[in-house]
Amino acid sequence: MIQGSCLCGAVRYQYAGELGVITICHCSDCRKAQGSTGVAAAVVEATKFQWTSGAQLIREYASSPGKKRAFCGDCGAPLYSRREDLPQVLRLRMGSIDTPIQATPSAHIFVSNLPAWAALDEDWPRYERQEPGRR
Ligand SMILES: [Zn+2]
Ligand SMILES: [Zn+2]
Repeated sequence: MIQGSCLCGAVRYQYAGELGVITICHCSDCRKAQGSTGVAAAVVEATKFQWTSGAQLIREYASSPGKKRAFCGDCGAPLYSRREDLPQVLRLRMGSIDTPIQATPSAHIFVSNLPAWAALDEDWPRYERQEPGRR
């Protein structure tokens, strides 16, 4: 069972299925929606997905015709996206998952328009925590 929640913890869910394909999407809509380089999202089966608290707080924004992006109305944390023509599937925002999972992304997608600050440079320094000098 996979469990997850929003930033404020009011919205909680559990998922009894397997995680499907995981992608990291860098399209401009995902960048805007996250305020970041993009979003890691996993395909999940809607029938095995259940809200355990806070469902009334969920807001859905139609970012394009037939496509909804959902977030907690209190804290703004992104939760999933869905397409009205694919009601059996949610694209769960991986950052909302609380259960440790081993699955890894299969691809970065929509990389053609990545801004320089979001480029995927494997040579950049990496730190376990904040970069040196951060206050
Ligand atoms: Zn919240
Ligand atoms: Zn996207």
